[in-house]
Amino acid sequence: MINNYTVSGEIEAWCTKCKLELAHTIVAIVDNLPKKVKCNTCNGQHNFRVKQPDKSPTKSIKTPRKIKAREATYEEYISRLSGDGVSRSRKYSIQGSFKKDELVDHSKFGIGVVLSVIKVNKIEILFKDGPKLLIQNQ
Ligand SMILES: [Zn+2]
Repeated sequence: MINNYTVSGEIEAWCTKCKLELAHTIVAIVDNLPKKVKCNTCNGQHNFRVKQPDKSPTKSIKTPRKIKAREATYEEYISRLSGDGVSRSRKYSIQGSFKKDELVDHSKFGIGVVLSVIKVNKIEILFKDGPKLLIQNQ
């Protein structure tokens, strides 16, 4: 990646005073790299560094947002279990009896997969909107 740093431009840097990765203003550039920066939070000037030295270098890699992970899990479940589409799904009804990993077609929530049978009459089904508790064997 080509860096186009400019003096008085903004940059994410490690603040030695705030002990956090924060927005900084570039004060000086040497060899096309920020040399000195000023923290926008505490106004302290210090040498540029990207990360906290030594400690947890992967800290800035954020884990995907919960909703993303949930969608991925849902898609994963459905594709793993359905194989030939969702033709194997059974219509959900409270009189029904469902097993773990069974595909369920719910009139409101759509296709879901049974995550677990919590009780004889209570099951957890993962729908596109997320897991829901439903009743069965009524
Ligand atoms: Zn600071």
